[in-house]
Amino acid sequence: MRILGLTSKINNIYRITSNQIKILNSLDIYTYSDLICYKPRKIIDRTQFIGLKKCKSNIIINKESSIFNTTIKVINTTFFGKFNKQVFKATVIDIYDNTALEILCFGRNFYSKILQKNTVHYIYGTAIINNMSLQTSTFEIKRINKNTVDKCYKTIDVIYPLNTKISSKSVNNLIKYILNNIDVFYNELPTFITRDLNIYTSDKAIRELHMPSSIQSFNKALYSLKTIELFYFVLSTVRQKRIKNLKSQNFSKLENKLINSLPFKLTNDQLICLHEIDTELENTSINMNRLLQGDVGSGKTLIAILSSLKMIEKKYQVALMAPTEILAYQHAQNTANILKDLNVNVAYLSGSINKKKREILLEKLANGEIDMLIGTHALFSKDVKFKNLKYIIIDEQHRFGVEQRKKLIDKGKKAHVLNMSATPIPRTLILSMYGNVTTSTINQMPLNRKPIITYLVSEESRDRMYKTIKVELKRKHQVYFVYPKIDEDENSNLRDVNTMYEKLKSLYPEYKSAIIHGKLSDEEKTKILDDFAQHKIDYIVATSVVEVGIDIKNATVMVVEHAERFGLAQLHQIRGRVGRSSLQSYCFLVYSPTINEEGKARMKIMRKSNDGFFISEQDLRLRGPGDIKGIKQSGYVPFRFASIANDIDLLEKVNKYVCSLLEKDPYLTNEKLNCIRYELKNCRWFNYNNLTNN
Ligand code: ADP
Ligand code: MG
Repeated sequence: MRILGLTSKINNIYRITSNQIKILNSLDIYTYSDLICYKPRKIIDRTQFIGLKKCKSNIIINKESSIFNTTIKVINTTFFGKFNKQVFKATVIDIYDNTALEILCFGRNFYSKILQKNTVHYIYGTAIINNMSLQTSTFEIKRINKNTVDKCYKTIDVIYPLNTKISSKSVNNLIKYILNNIDVFYNELPTFITRDLNIYTSDKAIRELHMPSSIQSFNKALYSLKTIELFYFVLSTVRQKRIKNLKSQNFSKLENKLINSLPFKLTNDQLICLHEIDTELENTSINMNRLLQGDVGSGKTLIAILSSLKMIEKKYQVALMAPTEILAYQHAQNTANILKDLNVNVAYLSGSINKKKREILLEKLANGEIDMLIGTHALFSKDVKFKNLKYIIIDEQHRFGVEQRKKLIDKGKKAHVLNMSATPIPRTLILSMYGNVTTSTINQMPLNRKPIITYLVSEESRDRMYKTIKVELKRKHQVYFVYPKIDEDENSNLRDVNTMYEKLKSLYPEYKSAIIHGKLSDEEKTKILDDFAQHKIDYIVATSVVEVGIDIKNATVMVVEHAERFGLAQLHQIRGRVGRSSLQSYCFLVYSPTINEEGKARMKIMRKSNDGFFISEQDLRLRGPGDIKGIKQSGYVPFRFASIANDIDLLEKVNKYVCSLLEKDPYLTNEKLNCIRYELKNCRWFNYNNLTNN
């Protein structure tokens, strides 16, 4: 039997109750496999004897708590507190070292029946020192029966992430029932690999996970299962090997023409990335699947467009998908503009285009008159048919779900794919999102850029900020104001777009302004951004809709109010709307008086760093693995055992190992690898459609 081969329903477990089934189902646990792969949150080791004397001496500072695990005898009991809030208190001593302990049972007066004078119990818990005496209110006790000879509890308890409706103990018992009914689990990996990687066999790993014989053994079991899981993850996502020897730079005619017409020089990093992409596009035997990453404003779009020319020259079609209508529109405008002398047909498929126009456009697309189509996810509507789609560019890819990306990719038969990302993916996470996708990175900003200066603004310095902004407006620069809400809301003290729009109008009466937020139609939004780009508007009052991609060079000031309410990666994106030319830009992050510690930490990181990689790594660290749900939605791979936030080192180790394995045996033909081929075929460890299209 294999760990993931147990498809029996948990309903078949002997004596499971219908209520337990319901609760487990709500945790996505349906089969035996689901249940035995339910990862414990932690274990509590109660095998060590720790007497009260030892516990007391372990406490160095007051308020610190320390663990005990021993046997006590009840000396005295009493109730204290006010008449209707009586609290039960028992004074006990350790029968081995005579040290006293006060047990306080807030809200648990039933203990008065158990902790009766002169009775003896095992006790496990944590104590503090209060008014010179050792006290506990977090403890567990077990009445000792006459025959027991242990000094203390002798168990290692496995704790699962559960709600209050079901206990870890009962889940553990259900799992034990399954494990006791399976003789042995087959190994998921050949023995030579388990040895190489220094992990347990599958059988030992899964048993030690739920019935650990020691802490070390539990840790190794978990490590082993993570390794197995990551092994299959890496293996199932391995695609083409990285092309090693890049050929010398060889621009096509159109590429050269465009490069020569630019008013600036490409940065070295841009050239390298373009070269990496071009080389792969030229190779007809493979399909590119590449991630082009670079901080906001590093010039990714231009590289994408340049590389498109290579395909367009060969009479292939290109699709560029952006996450919002605003961004798609802007890409369409800019692209048409820079390609206007190159005789390339660029079209914009807007969601709001009328039926007649849409039909004409789609016809042109189907017969190949359009070279490059730009739009949102509308690009993969059913009726959109390309003649010859061979290159797909996905901007701000993390905003699309895996499914959405896959749909577009399915439209292009054997198409090359370029994902672009403005870094909210930390370096170390790329592997876990894409497996072995190749990456190109622009680390360098265009030379003319000055780092954005970021100020943290409290309520008291608000007026000074408004004055500074006035100076920028006078210099004919443009400004964004961002607020967390559109309308005033009685239940919160948050500043909102509509109210602030009026206030700013009275502050800057001589300047033109406009409101932009998610409730406007796409046409209204694009119209306003158009006007902003043409400087018919001086400042924009907005929600976070301005977060992604918008590129207006003359804007030099970004104001974000209640900045502590935004995530770090998001703030970095928003801030990236300014600083897009040689002009000095400023970002004002206004925080609320009620800001908490975590908020302060985030504000400091923003002030300190302009580096998107650094910021997104800090973001992950601050948010911790708790935010797995959001991560899942953005296309991260959900793991059973491994965690993307904590197991990056292991992932890298496994990746290296898998690559060396494939180096020796690319098609896994070695007989020893039979079980791997079997698992891969069944896709049980990774049953997700990865983005490969070949
Ligand atoms: P992002 O990487 O955030 O998508 P963009 O591609 O939008 O960045 O580029 C930001 C701006 O910088 C664009 O207006 C683009 O024309 C300009 N740009 C791109 N490359 C260079 C360069 N090498 N030197 C100067 N400006 C550049
Ligand atoms: Mg961009």
